[in-house]
Amino acid sequence: MSAPCARPECGGDTHTDGWGNPTRCPHDTPERPKPRASVIELIAPDYQPTDDGAGSIIVPREVRINGVPVYTPKDAPVQIGDIQLGDELVTVTLTLIARRVVIAADGDLGEQP
Ligand SMILES: [Zn+2]
Repeated sequence: MSAPCARPECGGDTHTDGWGNPTRCPHDTPERPKPRASVIELIAPDYQPTDDGAGSIIVPREVRINGVPVYTPKDAPVQIGDIQLGDELVTVTLTLIARRVVIAADGDLGEQP
């Protein structure tokens, strides 16, 4: 037997399923991390450019997302959105090689296949 919910918005309801078993209050949602903008780095790894001449040119060969190197197809360009000063967002479009893609509801993520 469960107790009435203490949340004022529930008005003293006792949350149960169709068989009378206690269930979680629908207002009691777990804390979720907030999304944040990604840090995209196009890096020439293990290269120290010179101040002038051909040595000052860099050729990025590695993509990092939030500091983690990721695989990208060789023939897929990385596109950086047009940037205008002001309140425009900085956007990057790139293709990643995925090991696994999961499409699921949050509540299904703990299920074993
Ligand atoms: Zn409640």
